[in-house]
Amino acid sequence: MKTVTLPKAPRVGLVSLGCPKALVDSERIMTKLRSDGYDMSPDYAGADVVLVNTCGFLDSAKAESLEAIGEAIAEHGRVVVTGCMGKEADVIRERFPAVLAVTGPHQYEEVVAAVHDAAPPVASPFTDLVPESGLKLTPRHYSYLKISEGCNHRCAFCIIPHLRGDLQSRRPDAILREAEKLVEAGTKELLVISQDTSAYGLDLKHAAWPWKGRDVRAHMTDLVRELGQLGAWVRLHYVYPYPHVDSAIPLMAEGLLLPYLDIPFQHASPKVLKAMKRPANEAKVLQRLRDWREQVPDLAVRSSFVVGFPGETEEDFEYLLGWLEEAQLDRVGAFKFEPVEGAAATSMPDQVPEELKQERFERIMDLSARISAAKLAAKVGRTIDVLIDAVDPQTGGATGRSKADAPEIDGEVHLRDAGHFASGDIVSAKVEDSDAHDLYAVPV
Ligand code: SF4
Repeated sequence: MKTVTLPKAPRVGLVSLGCPKALVDSERIMTKLRSDGYDMSPDYAGADVVLVNTCGFLDSAKAESLEAIGEAIAEHGRVVVTGCMGKEADVIRERFPAVLAVTGPHQYEEVVAAVHDAAPPVASPFTDLVPESGLKLTPRHYSYLKISEGCNHRCAFCIIPHLRGDLQSRRPDAILREAEKLVEAGTKELLVISQDTSAYGLDLKHAAWPWKGRDVRAHMTDLVRELGQLGAWVRLHYVYPYPHVDSAIPLMAEGLLLPYLDIPFQHASPKVLKAMKRPANEAKVLQRLRDWREQVPDLAVRSSFVVGFPGETEEDFEYLLGWLEEAQLDRVGAFKFEPVEGAAATSMPDQVPEELKQERFERIMDLSARISAAKLAAKVGRTIDVLIDAVDPQTGGATGRSKADAPEIDGEVHLRDAGHFASGDIVSAKVEDSDAHDLYAVPV
């Protein structure tokens, strides 16, 4: 019998830095490369070319990106750079003249063309097949779903609009098609991301597109209602407390949306929020939180805060701590203000000294750990759903997450006697113990 010898597919090594949004970009690029006949290489040695997807949000992220490029050049030599730092092609080229190509964020065609130049594809009808949902970099059971690019706001500490431009929403039917394919391929949890999820569709004037015989508006509430019917957990990230967010709360009560909101408040002091030029900066947030929790008692709210913003006084910071005590947020991430080249806040007067930033950082983290510990202790004895992320057959244990935990940023649920489960399973478990961030449970 005549056998066909398949040509060896060129292999791409990928170093992906930065936020979940950059990870989605990496997934798209790899999906395209895979459809062009490329294989992935898990290490430098097996790769024909190395792609570094960079992050340029903060100066520390830029430094990390430059370090990753340097390492790839030293270890391999044939390197293509893409992502947010691609906007600073001159800096990269000056420091690493050997880099083959530099492309910016979302320049999918350009980066794919650069990889084609560096390691030409070998056409083969036997290998040019992509799994339906594309080649994913996140575990199969959860997927990030990017609904828009860019941002219409101009927060004083942020250079995202400069890097990524104004809000550009994807069509709802395109998002739903992608989500449906992901669920068909085994995704159990869709993580909706964008710079400003609540602004989704503003640029499209909330026009409607046909989807499965009905019209779906490019609007957060309508989109989420449809996503909720696909049978996966749907979790919303980067939501600002605009009035229409109230309309997402009934969807949680209906079980179409996880009782979880990631709202990057960044501060609470009206004076600091004003200086930060934050959107949806209004005084009644605490009352809204109370109303939401009345409708959905299990609602978990996650947020991030910046401490040491220029001009932040002890009084402002204490206002923030008092607000947090009242708001009882479930999950809190804090960052020390970092001046970024190109951000308005960088040249503001009254910069806060580093030691003071550190002291405030520790105080806010202590407080949020105390709040979190008390909230988690209140769950002991309850039975909750847990989505399993990883199983350890050696110990018979597993780690997973409850509806209140987003992957990578929130806490975990540690399960005992769960070695027979697989990642992606959703199991009922009784909570036996808790600490400041995690729960300990047993399947029931
Ligand atoms: S809302 Fe503010 S912080 Fe977020 S991306 Fe837009 S400008 Fe940056």
